Amino acid sequence: MAKQTKEKLATEKLEFRAEVKQLLQLMIHSLYSNKEIALRELISNASDATDKLRFEALANSALYENDNELKISIGFDKKVRTITVSDNGIGMSRDEVIANIGTIAKSGTKEFFNSLTGDQAKDANLIGQFGVGFYSSFIIADKVTLITRRAGEKEAVKWQSSGEGDYTLETVDKPSRGTEVILHLREGEDEFLNDWQLKSIIRKYSDHIILPIVMRKTEWKEGKDGKGGEMVTTDELETVNKASALWARAKNDISGEEYSEFYKHVSHDFQAPLAYTHSRVEGKQEYISLLYIPSKAPFDLYDRERRHGIKLYVKRVFIMEDAEKLMPQYLRFVRGVIDSADLPLNVSREILQDSRDVEAIKSGSVKKILGLLEDLAKDKPEEYAKFWGEFGRVLKEGPGEDFANKEKIANLLRFASTHANTDAQTVSLSGYVGRMKPEQEVIYYITADTFAAAQHSPHLEIFRKKGIEVLLMSDKVDEWLLGSLVEFEGKKLQSVAKGDLDLGKLEDDAEKAAKAKIEKDAKTLIERIKASLGEEVKEVRVTHRLTDSPACLVAGEHDLSGNLTRILKAAGQNAPETKPTLEINPMHKLVRRLETESEETKFADLAHLLFDQALLAEGGQLNDPASFVRRMNSLIV
Ligand code: ADP
Ligand code: MG
Repeated sequence: MAKQTKEKLATEKLEFRAEVKQLLQLMIHSLYSNKEIALRELISNASDATDKLRFEALANSALYENDNELKISIGFDKKVRTITVSDNGIGMSRDEVIANIGTIAKSGTKEFFNSLTGDQAKDANLIGQFGVGFYSSFIIADKVTLITRRAGEKEAVKWQSSGEGDYTLETVDKPSRGTEVILHLREGEDEFLNDWQLKSIIRKYSDHIILPIVMRKTEWKEGKDGKGGEMVTTDELETVNKASALWARAKNDISGEEYSEFYKHVSHDFQAPLAYTHSRVEGKQEYISLLYIPSKAPFDLYDRERRHGIKLYVKRVFIMEDAEKLMPQYLRFVRGVIDSADLPLNVSREILQDSRDVEAIKSGSVKKILGLLEDLAKDKPEEYAKFWGEFGRVLKEGPGEDFANKEKIANLLRFASTHANTDAQTVSLSGYVGRMKPEQEVIYYITADTFAAAQHSPHLEIFRKKGIEVLLMSDKVDEWLLGSLVEFEGKKLQSVAKGDLDLGKLEDDAEKAAKAKIEKDAKTLIERIKASLGEEVKEVRVTHRLTDSPACLVAGEHDLSGNLTRILKAAGQNAPETKPTLEINPMHKLVRRLETESEETKFADLAHLLFDQALLAEGGQLNDPASFVRRMNSLIV
């Protein structure tokens, strides 16, 4: 029985998962102008595979099978029109081949397809980020053969496909450990069957890969009698790439181009980075960090299972890529490498978890990145604006997550405000403070569901009238930010929609006296409204915020804002039920009309309308929309 299953396993034909088919179509038909991707991805996989072997061999050196000179070999055969990329890395078992090459068993597949734009350059970029690199082989090949044997195992497996929906698996012999990928080139792709061409591609993408990439040497062979001649390949191997750790080299030895290529390698991004910081730290902790800020947000910025982060090396040996231990969440867009001289080579995830050394490296690296952003904001405001557009919302998570750097992060934040009155987030807190009126004591803000709702909120009327700037906040993360950022440079941040508005010194005595008179005159009216609204409101009072609108809702000083309550409810969370305060503007025509209404039911209808429209204006939902419509209609008639 057992024998039979084994035989059955020997050769089988398997279907690709649906997404793989779709992806292959995309590769073949839309990425044909990015042919070099294929080689770059295969080299990158080979390099990953040797990293994995090195890491597993720390615990089990038998995996080396007496061959510990890790390398990648590349060759080509003009006659049969193939290119071969082989490595002596970890290899794959049969199950691993099925899991890694036959499916896309990764999170975010849907997001990936949704984020495709149809623009070749952009889509090629996404393919790299998503890590579906292997399939890019089909850009230049119409058949791909992969032969692999996992280190320490006996059986090898041959995978073959022409990229049209299925692939075959066969059990084969392979004496040497690792993986060999053979690309059978498509018609017209012969440019790759060229020694010089291949070498220049390898150099372009792989100089910084620490692993040697070898090819056979070629030499010029003179024709007989000194006439003619040809290039012939010899048996001698030569290392094509520089094979040096870029980050370990001296800064002024590295060109901008090299920094940029290295970034593309570690980040799987096709575009140049926006900025980088390269430093060697000595002292208690010794490490090198080379950290980059991408110029575009990756599609999985909000995906919890996102895969890329900072690569950790110990003395040039790759240890692991970790998205969390080396960078806080709010800097999760940072890419690059950290190479420690102190951590043990056999460092595990568990050790990383609560290592003080790692903590120190992390906090040092965070400082570097914040410093880089400060410089960018100061010296290259246009670049910083680009950064903010891509990652601003993520950085806003910072003050809540990183208490120690709160001030620094606060300085990096940008908002929309009534100053420019557009939705572009360009105002810094220190810019705001610089424009504050001499008598102004606090920083005013409003939060709302959308920018338009914030910009047109009735709560802003008095501020506009007096020319006081208000920050307009409409990102979901803003409420979270405001929970931890309660002051800046000693100035409290205060919502214009919460509490009893006291403009303090911003009002003169005459204004205060006028207000007191209005309040006194409106006393009976207020009581009548309160009686008709009953339990719906906490309080009814005269407003000091409105000039043009009849009414608005205000949350208590220490209550959640209406906006945050709605966000929590939408997320299915419990939000404490708090009743709003209704503020009315006795100078408004509608309110005056209310005052003259003697019939109680009509008065109650008008009072409810006042309440409901105040709720609508701040983006809230009516409890009883049908009654609202009925009242509205009776008023119109
Ligand atoms: P990624 O490299 O981003 O994971 P790829 O499509 O390039 O995506 O590769 C898919 C997976 O196939 C890899 O994660 C790895 O597990 C496996 N793989 C590809 N090439 C090799 C190789 N040369 N040696 C071992 N495993 C490989
Ligand atoms: Mg890959």
